Amino acid sequence: MKGPRRSDDGAPPTGQGLGGGGYGAEPESLGVYTSCSPLALDPFIAPEFSAVDWRGVARRLLILGSTGSIGTQALEIVAVAPDLELVGLSAEHSWEPLVAQAREHGVRRIALADADAAARAAEAWTDGEVLTGPEGLMTLVIESEADLVLNALVGSVGLGPTVATLGEGIDLALANKESLVVGGELVTQLAEATGAQIIPVDSEHSALHQLISAERPGTIDKLVLTASGGPFRGRSRADLEGVSVEQALQHPTWAMGGKITIDSATLMNKGLELIEAHHLFAMPYDRMDVVVHPQSIVHALVHLCDGASLAHLGYPDMRVPIAYALHHPERVDVAVPTLDLADVGALTFEPVDTDTFACLRLAREAAAEGGTAPCVLNAANEVAVHAFLAGRLGFLGIADVIAATLERVPAGPVLAFDSLYEADAAARTAAAELVAERSLA
Ligand code: MG
Repeated sequence: MKGPRRSDDGAPPTGQGLGGGGYGAEPESLGVYTSCSPLALDPFIAPEFSAVDWRGVARRLLILGSTGSIGTQALEIVAVAPDLELVGLSAEHSWEPLVAQAREHGVRRIALADADAAARAAEAWTDGEVLTGPEGLMTLVIESEADLVLNALVGSVGLGPTVATLGEGIDLALANKESLVVGGELVTQLAEATGAQIIPVDSEHSALHQLISAERPGTIDKLVLTASGGPFRGRSRADLEGVSVEQALQHPTWAMGGKITIDSATLMNKGLELIEAHHLFAMPYDRMDVVVHPQSIVHALVHLCDGASLAHLGYPDMRVPIAYALHHPERVDVAVPTLDLADVGALTFEPVDTDTFACLRLAREAAAEGGTAPCVLNAANEVAVHAFLAGRLGFLGIADVIAATLERVPAGPVLAFDSLYEADAAARTAAAELVAERSLA
């Protein structure tokens, strides 16, 4: 019942804050992609009916975090999409895969967060320009003249490029949920002011985007996000006392980067997704639910005012939401298996255990408090997950560190992006101290 490729987000955590330069991540095989897209195969489609705009000009696409899980799958989609022209790529430090991508796709400008990696890339690749650091990434965005930016960075370091993209009035395909968790109000206000669109890449939010777009305002009662439950579904708190990093990285349905896989094991990922959905769809928190659905076939559902409920189904395969975001409002063929419900057999659902998985409760509380609280929650989580992956913190310590950080760093109002940068830095300092106090090393 599993699709051939299953991936959600980018990469291992960088532990960097908002001002850092964490880009995408781990290289992954590009694989072979066979599309039955009519755009790719049918030369007789008149331009006015194709996804290429009326000028016959391809949309210019910039991919941030192109060596991560989302980035490499996006490149598979771009490779068979004549309506998309790749104008730039970025990575954190994986310079060799990044240069290979630039060569393969004829890209002339790349950025690497890591200065040493950028220097080595510039030495090895003389066909274009290599930018470096957070400023280099900003330059890449601002000077790209892109029509669409795919932000597939990992962590709150993605906020800066999100702001730069929307500030330029460029449409944003958003895989970096932290941009909305940390800066949701300011980010959505900015998009509204410049007229740029935010198209979610997160599978649940892509599903909601597709479910909601045909509905008139005022008809939606409730949004429901599904959660696989992660590798520790059904366990008690005591069971989780000594779980290893390897056990936490064994996600039952999605193959993803390290940070999001741990977030899925703690259910923090679903908490971050509630905050993301709140901002994307302007939905109050008391009208959003989470239900555990171990098969990951139903990605989201909406309850409508007339008693109807609509669900979005499909095998868990990130190429579907990525292709949707890159081609919106068009749809193109994606080479994924058609859902066979008889083969799947049973779809099951159960309530979330927020006693065992305290992170989801902490996320809901921070969301309700508002202001800088979600920013503090996110920064503490990034630090704690990084420490867990490095063997310096136990699994249950992740929620403990987040709860204690939220106590130590009181929430304040978000007056400007500076408020967020300050809260992020204060939370990282507090969380690092709390990790050290609990250190296993
Ligand atoms: Mg998701």
